[in-house]
Amino acid sequence: MTRTESLGHLKLDGRRIPCLLRRSSARRSLAMRVAIDGQVVVLAPRCLPDLQIEDFIQRHADWLRRQLNRLSAFADPWREGGRLPYLGGSLRLARAEGLVAPYHAGGRLLVADPATARQAVLTWYRAEAKAILGARLTSLCAAHALALPPWRLSDARTRWGSLSVRGVVGLNWRLIMTPPSVIDYVICHELAHFRERNHSPAFWREVAALCPDHAAARRHLRQNGGWYFQF
Ligand SMILES: [Zn+2]
Repeated sequence: MTRTESLGHLKLDGRRIPCLLRRSSARRSLAMRVAIDGQVVVLAPRCLPDLQIEDFIQRHADWLRRQLNRLSAFADPWREGGRLPYLGGSLRLARAEGLVAPYHAGGRLLVADPATARQAVLTWYRAEAKAILGARLTSLCAAHALALPPWRLSDARTRWGSLSVRGVVGLNWRLIMTPPSVIDYVICHELAHFRERNHSPAFWREVAALCPDHAAARRHLRQNGGWYFQF
């Protein structure tokens, strides 16, 4: 496998955005992602002409614009008015003197001091995840007449879900930040592993039976995963 990397810029709405072009002989198609620091990374087949890469970026300009806008909207959440992802939307961090623990009120998350609230907010996220992911697991098992498996919250750095050899479902607490349809997909993915402990076509048929719209949820995780994992 041959790989090359070159750092350049791409132009979007008159702005110059740092762009890392990574070519590899092992790649067959083009892909693009936006790193947390705002750098655009383009993955391309080794010998693809530059013109085709530029065309690809232009065709995905709207997507790129959305990613970059969101990145700036969610930049530095640990301040008054900072935005925290929650169930596919966001909560604004607001100050309320004398609170001992974060308090969720409408579209706001109230804390005593936004600048030092990080640890308390992460603890709050985990408690929310415990309640909401647990409720979705219970409800999906009931809907599909499946036995409710034991489960735990996970803090894996790259994985959304897991199924242990003992049959314990692990669900990443960061799922509380994703849309409800994505939570349901990850739960269904792990439930499907009870029947197929692999990622074969038979496994994906099980997933599709439990979660017909799994492709959209997987796309969401591919495109936004890095973003949620910054927490
Ligand atoms: Zn899997």
